[in-house]
Amino acid sequence: MKHVIVIGDGMADYPLEEINGKTPLQVAEKPNMDWIASRGESGLLRTVPKGMQASSDVAIMSILGYNPTKFHTGRGPIEAAGMGIELEEDEMAFRCNLISQKEGVMRDYSAGHITTEEAEKLIETMDKKYRDLGNFYVGTEYRHLFVTKHLNDEINNIQTRPPHDMINERLKDNIIEPKDHKYVQALNEMILKSTNILSNHPVNLRRKKETKRPANGVWIWGQGKKTTLEPKFDEYGISGAVISEVPLVKGLGVLAGLNKFETYQDTKFSNLNYEEKAKLGLAKIKDYDFLIIHDELPDEKSHAGDIEKKIDAIEKVDYLVGKIIQGLRGKKFTISILPDHPTPIEVKNHTAEPVPFSIYSTEGRRDKVEEFDEYSARRGSMGKLKGNEFINKFLSL
Ligand SMILES: [Zn+2]
Repeated sequence: MKHVIVIGDGMADYPLEEINGKTPLQVAEKPNMDWIASRGESGLLRTVPKGMQASSDVAIMSILGYNPTKFHTGRGPIEAAGMGIELEEDEMAFRCNLISQKEGVMRDYSAGHITTEEAEKLIETMDKKYRDLGNFYVGTEYRHLFVTKHLNDEINNIQTRPPHDMINERLKDNIIEPKDHKYVQALNEMILKSTNILSNHPVNLRRKKETKRPANGVWIWGQGKKTTLEPKFDEYGISGAVISEVPLVKGLGVLAGLNKFETYQDTKFSNLNYEEKAKLGLAKIKDYDFLIIHDELPDEKSHAGDIEKKIDAIEKVDYLVGKIIQGLRGKKFTISILPDHPTPIEVKNHTAEPVPFSIYSTEGRRDKVEEFDEYSARRGSMGKLKGNEFINKFLSL
């Protein structure tokens, strides 16, 4: 039996006036997602436990079957696992964004989707300059890592803000707390001074010429200590793999005992090659019993507030789903489609409402749901599940 979960990041949404009171999922052409819904069973899944942040690390941890209230220490250590960085017990890992700021105000959490090659040079400059505070590690595009040993005693007190939550706000009003702690002070200084260090870097001078947004700052957040997850898929006696372009999802897979495969090293998201991704997915299905394919594009377009492009992103994920189903034909298989969390266009950020999911299995049952979307799923026979109940249902089919 082959098991495949396709996660379309942030696909779920609210009804929008611009598309006649429907959601992007409801108007997208998505015959393959609907195929799963109409031949299988659907339901709603609460992936974000009460009181926790609606983020992909929390939500996908739930989907994989781990209760985030118990296992989630922060985004940093999960990404570290995805980047192949082994953390020590006394270390704290922060996610580090390259950002664009103007006059001390956050403009762009992704520094205009800077390329990995450009980012590498900027992150290396920061690393050299701040060795005594910690180490910077190069990830992909604007997503990097900062690891320090200096904050172990403050591990539960540290408060940071994700850069995508503070667009158009002053950096100074959002720095790390508690401000009076010696090393927190040093980190805040590093963040605020990074602008001076990076602004005139050759990489940024070139970007300026090309009228691209400068990567003129770093912002660290999502801190946590080393995370350990019991590799759960051994229990079921299955080998698995995760395919994603983002370190976070790869990291969760690695922590859960899956093998990771990346699609594109550099994903200028609009150019993501779905043909390649489908090919990689199909190749891995041959080698593994369990596969998670994650796609970030719908979330990116939701943050940008672009309805048309979000619909297009959903259709691209549907293309992936279609290719996978084609590749599984003739085999016994179970496939599920779901978002990790909603990223409503109106909010331009993640929310914590339950997400729709559909599961089709060659060995399973079907319910009355015909389409895959936020409202159809409410009528599904699977009802409303708590995050970590999903994987057991899915794997038992
Ligand atoms: Zn997002």
